[in-house]
Amino acid sequence: MGDGFFQPVSGMDLPRFAGVPTFMRLPQVGFDHDRISEVDIGLIGVPWDTGTTNRPGPRHGPRQLRDLSTMIRAENGATGVRPFELVNCADLGDVGPNPADIADSMDRITSFYDRVVAAGVMPLTGGGDHLSSLPILRAVAKDGPVGMIHFDSHTDLFHSYFDGTMYTHGTPFRRAVEEGLLDPKRVVQIGIRGTAYDTEDRDFARAEGIRIVPIEEYFARGVEDVMAEAREIAGDGATYISYDIDFVDPTFAPGTGTPEVGGPNSYEALLVARLLDGVNIVGADLVEVSPPFDQSGGTAFLGVSIMFEMLCVMAKARAGT
Ligand code: MN
Ligand code: MN
Repeated sequence: MGDGFFQPVSGMDLPRFAGVPTFMRLPQVGFDHDRISEVDIGLIGVPWDTGTTNRPGPRHGPRQLRDLSTMIRAENGATGVRPFELVNCADLGDVGPNPADIADSMDRITSFYDRVVAAGVMPLTGGGDHLSSLPILRAVAKDGPVGMIHFDSHTDLFHSYFDGTMYTHGTPFRRAVEEGLLDPKRVVQIGIRGTAYDTEDRDFARAEGIRIVPIEEYFARGVEDVMAEAREIAGDGATYISYDIDFVDPTFAPGTGTPEVGGPNSYEALLVARLLDGVNIVGADLVEVSPPFDQSGGTAFLGVSIMFEMLCVMAKARAGT
């Protein structure tokens, strides 16, 4: 588009293993850049994992996601969508967290996304643990509750950990409902599975009207049918997409802190994102990639491939096509 400034560097011009890695080889455009006002979709890193209660590491996620994102080409092989020709995409850089202070980090993240929203930019985030989604939602849902389509093996709807700790990666969406950031009747959680401490999270979901699609139902009905229901639940209203990489079976995505076996394969991991087409997306994230547990880089590659699928539907929505 235009003068080519917002086009990713092609592997035909510079080999994909060369150069400084930005998300998908896009230009880096910070808030002080003179072209920030032209950005439609901003890819943002949140290198933060202080909400992690189990195996850590997602603070290293954005850097490895950027590295593996150099494998992404400009055209979606399944749909033919060329997102970088539909809208202006750029890497907005990382939010700088305070790794020793959860509350301060959340304030820093919200402040960053307040600026993203004020600039009219649609955010696509690479995390970070799942607590990252809460301070993002505080900015994205500032003017009223949004719907959410959430892929995960966990609900992240717990009340608290360790007898009263309210902010962990197991609690973000409980807080988001309490804070009026999410409309629970327009929230669907897909892929829930694994052993459990108790049913407190699912009891909360039932009481609030949050729809949970457990993995047994997902496989029994099939991905197309489940995603048709998800689009119906989200409706026409503003909807946030939150995608925890542990939605995917650990055979395909071992590089994460809280894996659960018996999940979708990497093909379906992409397909669910592709089937978001038509949703009124106001932002999306891909969280919980933990490079220390991702020795091949395969989890990060799957993560950025999912981000590219989400980017394609976001670009279509933004361009009105
Ligand atoms: Mn999660
Ligand atoms: Mn999870």
